[in-house]
Amino acid sequence: MKAAIYRGPGNVSIESLADPAPGPSEVVVQVAYSGICGTDLHLVHLPAVKPEEGDVMGHEVVGEIVEIGQGVDRSRVGEAVALEHLLSCMSCEFCNEGHINLCRNSTYFMGRDITGGNAQYIRVYDTMAVPVPGLSLREAALAEPLAVAYQGVAFSGIKEGESALVVGCGPIGALTIQVLKAFGVQPIVSEISPYRLQLASKLGAAVTVNPMKDDLEAAVKKYAGETGVRYVFECTGSAKAYAQVMPLLRSAGTLMMVGSGPDAIPVVPETMLRRQLTIKGSLAYADRMANAIELLQRGVIEVDTLISAERPLEDWYTSVGELSSGGDLCKVLIKPSLS
Ligand SMILES: [Zn+2]
Ligand SMILES: [Zn+2]
Repeated sequence: MKAAIYRGPGNVSIESLADPAPGPSEVVVQVAYSGICGTDLHLVHLPAVKPEEGDVMGHEVVGEIVEIGQGVDRSRVGEAVALEHLLSCMSCEFCNEGHINLCRNSTYFMGRDITGGNAQYIRVYDTMAVPVPGLSLREAALAEPLAVAYQGVAFSGIKEGESALVVGCGPIGALTIQVLKAFGVQPIVSEISPYRLQLASKLGAAVTVNPMKDDLEAAVKKYAGETGVRYVFECTGSAKAYAQVMPLLRSAGTLMMVGSGPDAIPVVPETMLRRQLTIKGSLAYADRMANAIELLQRGVIEVDTLISAERPLEDWYTSVGELSSGGDLCKVLIKPSLS
């Protein structure tokens, strides 16, 4: 099969690999789409988590089961599935508390520990292949990143009609806007790219603001009231953005860290205490795939607006570059059948 293989910085080559064969309790899935994720941008650019030479990345994967291993129900052949990106042990202290995304024993992250989805086929445990009845594979391609956005919103504790500021309208910011809308919240969105500001409006933002041009503080007060906004969903990971939005939180408000970044942010104990603020980190998701699939099945996610492009394997690295430099794109799907 053809696969996009990481051969070092700036070098991803399309090579032939042996077709995977399923072991016991495993299935082989013919990859229909493999989405490019913010995590891929971090993997390529952040020194701490660089991929290793020879890795096949891609962890937002959907396709059709074409082969099954011993012990897997034969009726699954031909089934359309979205794949979980992680296999957790289900027995460590974090798994027992429901934080399966924090599993201590998992060494099974797709695209890093196991061969990822930027290939024509992928082999996974059958429990990682989740059926997507009623969805096209293109719609289902949003299930994994939508589960990440769902986790951030659900974990925040926000309720219908409350105020929220979403910072950044890249793929996760865009999906966060959509999940908030499904929760009955119409957020204000801060974003510097004109393309993404327009995208935020289309996806249901109440107000959009370019903080480089407009007064974000004034806009937030107009939207949420003089005391500030109850929830901030920071989806860029930029320390500068964090510093800018912390003062916009209402007392007793919550900052959700959805965007990852390496730089420190200013947290002043006196402010935190006097204003009784909460900061929560949200990593990927724990058991949210079903929620994401249900939102897609209800038709409340604007799939066509969110998916900007479908590209062959050969375009993976240049697409990551385009996304990293803030290109006019939201979700880019790699479609191996175009290769
Ligand atoms: Zn992802
Ligand atoms: Zn565990």
